[in-house]
Amino acid sequence: MSRVLHRNLRADPVLAATGDGLWLRAAEGWGVIDASGGAAVACLGHGNRRVIQAMTAQAERLAYAHTVFFSCEAAEELAELLVGEEPGGLARAYFASSGSEAMEAALKLSRQYFLEIGQPQRRRYIARHQSYHGNTLGALGLGGNMARREPYAPILADCFSHVSPCFAYRGQGEGESDAAYVARLAAELEDEFQRLGPDSVIAFVAETVVGATTGCVAAVPGYFRAVREVCDRHGALLILDEVMCGMGRTGTLHAWEQEGVAPDIQTIAKGLGGGYQPIGGVLAGRRVVEALSAGSGGLKHGHTYQAHPVACAAALEVQRIIREEGLLERVRSLGERLGAGLRERLGHHLRVGDVRGRGLFWALEFVEDRATRRSFDPDHRVNDRIKEAALRRGIAIYPMGGTVDGTRGDHVIVAPPYIADAAALDAIADRMADAVQDVFGTSAG
Ligand code: PMP
Repeated sequence: MSRVLHRNLRADPVLAATGDGLWLRAAEGWGVIDASGGAAVACLGHGNRRVIQAMTAQAERLAYAHTVFFSCEAAEELAELLVGEEPGGLARAYFASSGSEAMEAALKLSRQYFLEIGQPQRRRYIARHQSYHGNTLGALGLGGNMARREPYAPILADCFSHVSPCFAYRGQGEGESDAAYVARLAAELEDEFQRLGPDSVIAFVAETVVGATTGCVAAVPGYFRAVREVCDRHGALLILDEVMCGMGRTGTLHAWEQEGVAPDIQTIAKGLGGGYQPIGGVLAGRRVVEALSAGSGGLKHGHTYQAHPVACAAALEVQRIIREEGLLERVRSLGERLGAGLRERLGHHLRVGDVRGRGLFWALEFVEDRATRRSFDPDHRVNDRIKEAALRRGIAIYPMGGTVDGTRGDHVIVAPPYIADAAALDAIADRMADAVQDVFGTSAG
């Protein structure tokens, strides 16, 4: 009997034994293609020798030194690589051990910024419905995923509110132009600032491309420029959560590069260390850093394992490989192939409402009725059944039960490692189509 407190205590867990390239193998011997990199984590696949050697070398040299006494070379070099050229004005990096921890640090950093510049009345954050920013209490309170929030609602802080996300498939009106949709969402955000009192807002927080909850939703063109304007008008910060969509996943190192705006604060995690070590990060903009430096002198936040040497060494090697091997271009070109492959095989399926994504970050949304976009009853467990069918077909894809239109929606994420080749992507699209067929029986609509 397992003594680990698992997600599911009613069944014995499957033991993963080995990982090699795109493949994961269970202790029982069977293997699957890791077609979602876990939850968009394993950007280099498994067993990368360079990363393993970098980790080992770091552990042999220095496994740990507390940041109250020391920084370490790996953390300094990783920060230099990420923000040395100040992309979008981001000037310093803080390293944590997960996406949630990064989000907590971003919340505190943004509050501290306003304390430093003499605006202590700012205490509110505006995020979006159906969003997910992590499972720790601050990040959970910030997020708008009702199913995850609900059990803990009585113990969440009251400084968070939510506006509509930019989710064209579910939110854009019939015949409504992108410009009109953007204007409507910006007006809603403006109204929320007014309702709260504009000078009480610390930040608007959004995922640049939504991963968790609703699955690979990129905003319509102009959306991020419009929300940036609303934030600027009221002196609030823009925090972009790129824990899932960042670090090359959508074809540029930062997903915001494709939106024509940069955040004041950004969170990163999964693709940062590619799963080789638990590591997340916060990238802080110049004006935020300068305010801390001129004010109290530094970040009033920290953890025992922040900027852990072995975690930073792993992430540094992952990021060097992404650059040296031209993997961003690869994500862009292979991403088009994966998207086209999924669309071709499943775009017309009766139960597939939407195929959406960017780079190597794709989702399928399943619906009971394509015309009305009605979701399945949660009792059908559609995304879990698709996940199970896909495993039987030899691919691991990530199931999501987000909330759409107040009901639970079914999506799965396909997010293969950046090292996948065209043949592997075609195999993933084929197996995905087989899995969908296994669950619904019907094919084209
Ligand atoms: N933000 C986003 C956008 C995420 O997708 C996730 C993880 N799914 C988190 C934050 C939390 O990261 P972690 O699970 O590493 O705490």
